[in-house]
Amino acid sequence: MSIKENLLAVTNTIPNSVTLVAVSKTKPMSLIQEAYDEGQRIFGENRVQEMTEKWQKMPKDIKWHMIGHLQRNKVKYMAEYISLVHGVDSPRLLAEINKQAEKHNRVISCLLQVHIAEEDTKFGFNEEELLDLVANEEFKAFKNVKIVGLMGMATFTENMNQVRREFASLKSLFTKLKSNYTDFNTLSMGMSGDYKIAIEEGSTMVRIGSSIFGSRN
Ligand SMILES: *Cc1c(COP(=O)(O)O)cnc(C)c1O
Repeated sequence: MSIKENLLAVTNTIPNSVTLVAVSKTKPMSLIQEAYDEGQRIFGENRVQEMTEKWQKMPKDIKWHMIGHLQRNKVKYMAEYISLVHGVDSPRLLAEINKQAEKHNRVISCLLQVHIAEEDTKFGFNEEELLDLVANEEFKAFKNVKIVGLMGMATFTENMNQVRREFASLKSLFTKLKSNYTDFNTLSMGMSGDYKIAIEEGSTMVRIGSSIFGSRN
């Protein structure tokens, strides 16, 4: 199937209220352009250098999302243009994003990554750390970052009941925080293998790569 057909097949299964991030990591600009030509404007990448190269060369109305684990020393390279950072997983990273955003006179939207999977290889806050962070006065004073929601990845497993349970727990945390933080509007959960479940459990943003661009090496 072509990118066009893949994209259509995916968008046909996503309600209008859910935002699609087309995950283009490792994929060449020619394929991104194909998706762009079909109207897709949001792309997700997980390496700053690769994303920056694509940003420089591709149409300027693309919104680039950083979806992977982000090192603090890389923030400066994307601060000028990044549209949303999905995986903020430490207070120090948030502080660095704030600092670099200030240099460009920008307010960078961020999602806090929550650890919902059972594997300990996946990054993110636990519930207690998260509640501490959003209540922290030092962070509330940051003027150049805006925390707009949460992001999570479910366990890599065939057990879809478990995946559903993990998404449901993230959604309930999101709902709890949303009542206190008016900027909260985005719940990023769901990838090619589990996005339908994620949407059923309340996702507002799905990150889909291989179902659109084919599998990665
Ligand atoms: C690679 C990646 C995706 C997309 O995965 P697919 O299974 O190809 O849809 C989504 N989210 C994150 C954080 C990723 O790193």
